[in-house]
Amino acid sequence: MTQTTTKTVLVTGASSGIGEATARRLAADGHRVFLGARRTDRLEALVEEITKEGGSADFRRLDVTDAADVRAFVQAARAAFGRVDVLVNNAGVMPLSPLEALRTDEWDRMIDVNVRGVLHGIAAVLPMMREQGGGHVVNVASVGAHEVVPTAAVYCATKFAVRALSEGLRQESAGDIRVTLVSPGVTESELADHIGDAEAREAMKARRAVALPASAIADAIAYAVAQPPEVDVNEIVVRPAASA
Ligand code: NDP
Repeated sequence: MTQTTTKTVLVTGASSGIGEATARRLAADGHRVFLGARRTDRLEALVEEITKEGGSADFRRLDVTDAADVRAFVQAARAAFGRVDVLVNNAGVMPLSPLEALRTDEWDRMIDVNVRGVLHGIAAVLPMMREQGGGHVVNVASVGAHEVVPTAAVYCATKFAVRALSEGLRQESAGDIRVTLVSPGVTESELADHIGDAEAREAMKARRAVALPASAIADAIAYAVAQPPEVDVNEIVVRPAASA
């Protein structure tokens, strides 16, 4: 049986793709959602849509690469909704390229958003969740946290890191804070739109032919969030049925 208690759920990267679908799904499940990303026009429209449908939502501009900004985001959520039950660390970027292309600015960006961003989120909620006597951190990794494919070495390295951080956090906070790692396979979103390298863009086109709807990943997150407090769903991998 799943739990229907209303929770305050923070979602980073909620302006498109998986984050947006997760916000919709969790709001429809009756949770209060607090949304962050840099494109506030998108967040504003999403909050308006959720509110019109009877849900509870608010947003704040968020750049996850800035630790102080992430702290302010979490504090704003607590000010708006009274507490913070779940943080979904979803914001991510994937400008794929072969290592030999030396697109080092893009390597830095992936490390800043995909790894430092997640760490900033953990740092911002950990003291609050400890003080509240519990909480739940959901980290969105990737099948790239489990396997490496050509052009994706740095992206996969960041997602392997997210997987390691999730397991470390789980071990260190067992019985107090639940930790879930969600690893999507190829999913419809804007993630591949920012690939500048031609070889990587071509490789991604073929993979995207079988992409899942973002709602499939939102459903997996909603499942983990809905479990009773004694149940910690540690890891979910969701691939298109047609992927190898
Ligand atoms: P999208 O590009 O559609 O969404 C990415 C989100 O991250 C956007 O809302 C974007 O918002 C946000 N974001 C990027 N940089 C920052 C930043 N510095 N600060 C705050 N928010 C930021 O892609 P997806 O929905 O696919 O990506 C969501 C997660 O899913 C990522 O972690 C991705 O790695 C992972 N994933 C996706 C897969 C896929 O096939 N789609 C497969 C495996 C994993 P804004 O630009 O407005 O700031």
